[in-house]
Amino acid sequence: MADWLQEGEPHVWRPYQPMKGAAQPLAVARTDGVRLYLEDGRALVDGIASWWTACHGYNHPHIAKAVTEQLARAPHVMFGGLAHEQAYRLAARLAKLLPGDLGHIFFAESGSVAVEIAMKMAVQYWLNRGVAGRTKFLSFRGGYHGDTLATMSVCDPEEGMHGLFKGVFPQQVLADLPRDDASVAALDALLAEQAGGIAAILVEPLVQGAGGMIFHEPEVLRRLRRLADKHEVLLILDEIFTGFGRTGTMFAMEAAGIEPDIVTLSKALTGGTLPLSAAVANARVFSAFRSEDPDKALMHGPTFMANALACAAANASLDLFETGAWKADVARIEAGLRAGLEACRSLPGVVDVRVLGAIGVVELDRPVERGPLCARFVELGCWIRPMGKVVYLTPPLVIGDEDLALLTGAVRRGLER
Ligand SMILES: *Cc1c(COP(=O)(O)O)cnc(C)c1O
Repeated sequence: MADWLQEGEPHVWRPYQPMKGAAQPLAVARTDGVRLYLEDGRALVDGIASWWTACHGYNHPHIAKAVTEQLARAPHVMFGGLAHEQAYRLAARLAKLLPGDLGHIFFAESGSVAVEIAMKMAVQYWLNRGVAGRTKFLSFRGGYHGDTLATMSVCDPEEGMHGLFKGVFPQQVLADLPRDDASVAALDALLAEQAGGIAAILVEPLVQGAGGMIFHEPEVLRRLRRLADKHEVLLILDEIFTGFGRTGTMFAMEAAGIEPDIVTLSKALTGGTLPLSAAVANARVFSAFRSEDPDKALMHGPTFMANALACAAANASLDLFETGAWKADVARIEAGLRAGLEACRSLPGVVDVRVLGAIGVVELDRPVERGPLCARFVELGCWIRPMGKVVYLTPPLVIGDEDLALLTGAVRRGLER
C-alpha cells in the first residue's frame, strides 16, 4: 500500500460510504488520456470519466497550458469589485454557445451550488416582480440535483435520503415526468392547483443521471415548457450532467428545441480539471434583477466565484469543442456502445440496455453488488463504478474504439457471472 494512503487513511472521510469495513479505494498515481495509472503500476481505462467530467480525457495539453499560463499570471482574485479576462471571455462565449437568450451567467464552484443559485434566482425573480408566495419547486421522481440541503429537497425522495433528513429541508412538490397522456393531465392538474406557490419547475433534460440514468423523449421537455408557460412558472434545466456534448448535442435542450428560463452547468465545463459551475438566466429572468434597488440584487457570492484557473480551463475546453470533432466522436461512441452492450440484454438479471450519445446503460432487476463487480472490472483493466441497479459507461469523448470495446467487453464479462 502507498505510504500516503496508509498515513491519511484514518483521517480522510470518503463520499457515500460507511467509514468502517469498506473496500480500500484504488490509489491513483497519475492520469493520461483515457487512463488512470495506479500506484501499483496497473493502468485502467476510465469508463466513468471521473463522474462525467473528463470529456477531453485527462491531462489534455491545451488545457494544461492554459491553466499553467493563468497560474503564472493570477491564480485567483475575488470577484466582488474585481474582474478578470478569463471569466469575462468565458461568460461571453457561454452566452454565444447556449441557445436563445440564455446570456446572464453567474459563476460558482460546484454543481449543487449552481442549482441552489438557480433556485434563489427563481424565488427572487418573483419577489423582485412583486409576486409573493412563490417559494416552492416542482421536481421529478428519478431526479438528482445535488447533495446540499436545498438541492436534496428537489432530488428523488429515495436518492435524496428524504427519510433520513425529514424536517430538515422544506417539502417541495414532487411529480412524475409527463411521459404520456395520463401523466401530462396529472401534472397539468397539479400545476393548476399549486402554481401560485411554485417558483419553478426543475428537471434534468433527456437523462436523469445520478437517479439511475433514466432517459426520456425530447417531447417530455416540450410538454414541460408548454406547461410552465401555461401556468406561468419558470423552467430550470439542470444540464450539469448532459451539457457539453454528452447526449449528442452540445446541450440536451437542443434535441427538444426548447429553452429554459435558467440553466445550470458544471461537470464537463472545465474538461474535468478544476471545479467550476454556472447558473445562466435568460433575458426575462435577468430583467427582474436589472434594478438600482439594492434589495433586488441576487444575494449570492461564493469566495472562489469565477476562479481564474477554472475559467482558463473552461475557455481551453471550449476551444477544443470549437473544433467540432466531439460531434463525430459522440456518434462513434454511441454506435460502439450499442454494438458492445447489446449482448448484455440476454444476461441473467438484465432488464434493459439503453444508449444515448456517449451514455451506455445496462439496468439490472436489483441493486448490483458493487464491490465484487468493481474488482472484476479492475481485473479486466477497466474503471467502471455501478450505481444502484445500473452499470453504465460515460467515457471521455475522445476514447478510441479499442478502449471502448475493452469497456463494453468488461461490462459483458462482469455481468456474465
Ligand atoms: C452532479 C450533479 C449535480 C451536483 O453537482 P456537484 O458538483 O456534485 O455538486 C447536480 N445536478 C446534476 C444533474 C448532476 O449530475
